[in-house]
Amino acid sequence: MEIKDYDEATVEAVAAHIRKIIELLGEDPTREGLLKTPVRAAKALYYASNGYRIDPSALMRQAIFEYNGSQMIIVRDIEFYSMCEHHLLPFFGHVSIGYIPDGTMVGLSKLARIVDAYARRFQVQERFTTELCKEVYETLPAKGVMVVCNAHHMCMKMRGVEKQDATTTTTDYVGVFADDPMLRREFLESIRYR
Ligand SMILES: [Zn+2]
Repeated sequence: MEIKDYDEATVEAVAAHIRKIIELLGEDPTREGLLKTPVRAAKALYYASNGYRIDPSALMRQAIFEYNGSQMIIVRDIEFYSMCEHHLLPFFGHVSIGYIPDGTMVGLSKLARIVDAYARRFQVQERFTTELCKEVYETLPAKGVMVVCNAHHMCMKMRGVEKQDATTTTTDYVGVFADDPMLRREFLESIRYR
C-alpha cells in the first residue's frame, strides 16, 4: 500500500519533459547547477502525486474498530501539501475532520493518511474537502462527517493578484451535520474557525 520507491521509467520520462520545459523557459538545462534538476524535480512531482497510487478506502479499512460511543470525534489541524490543478503550484494548510460514530471508529493516524492520499494529487481545495468528507462518511460508515480546510495558495501569492496573506476556507458536511446546526457549531467551536 505504501509507495516507497519511484517508478524509474516514469521518473525518466517526466524528467525528459522537465528538461525541455527548462529550455523552453529560456535556461540551459546542461548548465552545471541544472544537470540533475530534471530527475530531482520529476521525483518531487512523483511524490507529490503519490495519491493516485493509493486507495484511500482500503487504507481506512485497515484500521476500523468497533466502538459504542455516540459523541463527536475530531482530529484537528492535520497538515497537508497539495498541488492546484489549475496552475500546478502548491497549496497547503490544515484540515480538521469531525465525525459522529455509528458503531465504528477509525484509527486516528489513518485519517491523517487519507488526507495525504487525497492531497497528493492535482486538486482544487473544494473537491479535496468534499472527497475527505465523503470518504469518511461512506467507508466507516459514520452518522455524520464535517470537514473544514484552511489553505494558502501559491498561485494567489506568486502570480496574478499577489495577495500574500489571503487564505481560503472550505467546508463540507453530510449526515447528521446537515440536519443539525448545533452539531456544526459544536464542531466549528472545537476547531476555532468561525
Ligand atoms: Zn491555482
